[in-house]
Amino acid sequence: MNPSGSIAFSPSSQFKQTCGFCGSVFRVEIERPASWKDTHPYCCPECGRTCVAKTSTPPRVTLLSKRTDNRTSLHPQT
Ligand SMILES: [Zn+2]
Repeated sequence: MNPSGSIAFSPSSQFKQTCGFCGSVFRVEIERPASWKDTHPYCCPECGRTCVAKTSTPPRVTLLSKRTDNRTSLHPQT
């Protein structure tokens, strides 16, 4: 239901995201939202799907809800 992928979010200290591949829910915490000219990748904790956040430091990802797709495969990275 959640077409995540390229989520556009305004700079905030944290947000919740549902993985568009496996359905897991995780929290992404941004340490320094004030300067977001840089981007850092972060991964879904369940399938390893990579997203990119606009932040100057690597985001911290916390798993909130496990994947719901009943698969065990990782997201095919390019
Ligand atoms: Zn995932």
